[in-house]
Amino acid sequence: MAERLKNYVGGEWIDSDAADVHEVRNPATGEVIGLTPLGGMADVSAAVAAAKAAFSSWRRVPVEDRVQPMFKLKSLLEDHAEELAQICTRENGKTVPESRGSVRRGIQMVEMACGAPSLLMGQVLEDVSGGIDCESVRQPMGVFAAITPFNFPAMVPMWFFPFAVACGNTFVLKPSEQVPFSAKLTWELAHDAGFPPGVLNLVQGGRDAVNAICEHPDIVGISFVGSSPVAEHVYKQGAARGKRVQALGGAKNFIFVMPDADMDHALDAITESAFGCAGERCLAASIVVPVGDCHDEVRDGLKARMARYKIGDGSKPETTLGPVISAPHKQKVLGFIETGVNEGAELVVDGRRAEMPSTGNFVGPTLFDNVTPEMTIGSEEIFGPVLCLMPMADLDSALQLTHDHPLANASSIFTTSGKSARQFRYDVDASMAGVNIGVAAPMSFFGFGGAKGSFFGDLKAHGRESFDFYTDRKVLISRW
Ligand code: NAD
Repeated sequence: MAERLKNYVGGEWIDSDAADVHEVRNPATGEVIGLTPLGGMADVSAAVAAAKAAFSSWRRVPVEDRVQPMFKLKSLLEDHAEELAQICTRENGKTVPESRGSVRRGIQMVEMACGAPSLLMGQVLEDVSGGIDCESVRQPMGVFAAITPFNFPAMVPMWFFPFAVACGNTFVLKPSEQVPFSAKLTWELAHDAGFPPGVLNLVQGGRDAVNAICEHPDIVGISFVGSSPVAEHVYKQGAARGKRVQALGGAKNFIFVMPDADMDHALDAITESAFGCAGERCLAASIVVPVGDCHDEVRDGLKARMARYKIGDGSKPETTLGPVISAPHKQKVLGFIETGVNEGAELVVDGRRAEMPSTGNFVGPTLFDNVTPEMTIGSEEIFGPVLCLMPMADLDSALQLTHDHPLANASSIFTTSGKSARQFRYDVDASMAGVNIGVAAPMSFFGFGGAKGSFFGDLKAHGRESFDFYTDRKVLISRW
């Protein structure tokens, strides 16, 4: 029988009363590997009550003591990194090397949070007026919650909880109901690391749990990662109740290739960006824009590289392209391919015809040429292994594409010209930008997040901004 997932509340694993469950399936085989109870307000309230009760003592623990379980967690995550990567592959489908990479990025968040004693420091200025001194201190605020997506089951929860609790807050995670096992192991390790009961809590669920988090009066702030419509919903619902919200949404990332680029490097990096993690990355290349006269070289080079993929179960060492997350998502991606053909884009590589296992949610790498911004595949996020070419005559018109698109997550340019690189970084309308980089992913010590419809809020995920998001900066003015 498939395991029914539990909630973790007040330091204990407890059953949810929820009658409805989501069947968790291994995307490569279709096998049911778990049942996620779809909890609602009752489950969220129990977790928030435990977190609220723990807050008054946790915030008084000296920060140097608060980070000790974080150091322990870092060590336990290192010991269990391979196990976590295997779990991530089993529930999400990405290849084991891809899972390992994401676990590594997650552990780096824990490492950064261990620096809280320095990063939480405030500021002091003497004599702001005669004999009057002014200082600011960062204080924790209470119970924070995070809601995370399916595509990075181990890493994305780690974008938030290490920083939130290192700052002295207590925390409730609601992972994606499609991938609950990575968070389960992370929370088991956090339990062993010695966080006091109630500091870290976990609630299983889907839409009802999300709405309960938005509505709950004792949650002071929400970190969200997922699709743009849900990000906007969470932002509006949370903000309407006076909560802090940082909501990271979807993407449609443009990659520009200049005729002077180091073509081998550019095409290798773009292929990895578009098809790594089966295209289910918010930083994936979606639209490649060959600028000027490199169109044929880019198309032919991508086509040759795409032919090398070995599609299959991500847990097998020979696999280089795993499945997409679910059967409905596969149908959605196939629907985009169909629409691309119907709207007149040129199908250069048809991933539906690729060699792949007959069961599982596989879609082969797909390439369209002469895509326009008006086409569905030229404008909407596909979130699968489908890449579009949108040739442009010059860099000005190429960059204009980013200004015209409602999403603004990431973008990259491949060039050997400092002038083009400078124009790109100055003008591109995307908050994460790469020069000769296929996946412009900020590491733990920088903020992560897009702009326009890709991000709702102002303080982004991880980096120093986390210490602003998860604290109130109290200002004290004194005269003695
Ligand atoms: P999703 O929006 O479907 O789900 C995200 C979370 O919201 C899940 O926990 C889910 O249970 C919940 N949810 C889903 N539908 C809901 C609804 N109608 N009401 C309330 N809650 C709901 O996203 P996903 O499919 O899990 O993840 C893929 C999306 O996440 C893509 O759009 C991708 O670009 C985005 N993403 C963005 C970033 C980023 O940094 N901007 C990072 C990773 C993923």
